[in-house]
Amino acid sequence: MHELGILNEVLDTALRVAEQHGGSKVTKITLRIGLMSGIVPRFVQSYFDVLSKDTIAKDAKLIIEIDPAVYLCCDCGAKTTYTEQAPHFECEKCGSRTLRLLSGYGFQIVNVGIV
Ligand SMILES: [Zn+2]
Repeated sequence: MHELGILNEVLDTALRVAEQHGGSKVTKITLRIGLMSGIVPRFVQSYFDVLSKDTIAKDAKLIIEIDPAVYLCCDCGAKTTYTEQAPHFECEKCGSRTLRLLSGYGFQIVNVGIV
């Protein structure tokens, strides 16, 4: 359900962009989703389709880019990048699991395509 609030925001932004640029239709929206954001990419399009059905963003295609998770090791200071979910995360250098997430938890609208 986390996704619905976020997608409402995406829809609002897309509609605002279309309005500002005199667009009559939103054709695609590129999103960058952090691996650790808690957003499940496979649900994003179907939620968006429901939310946008009575708007000019109806049928817009969502293009999703995944922002990798970058962890800083609190023990040795090395950085480890994960591009996929893992059962647990550990430092690739020393194996420590005491890590701090530096990036990959955010969410961003990269581009809105309008015609
Ligand atoms: Zn380490």
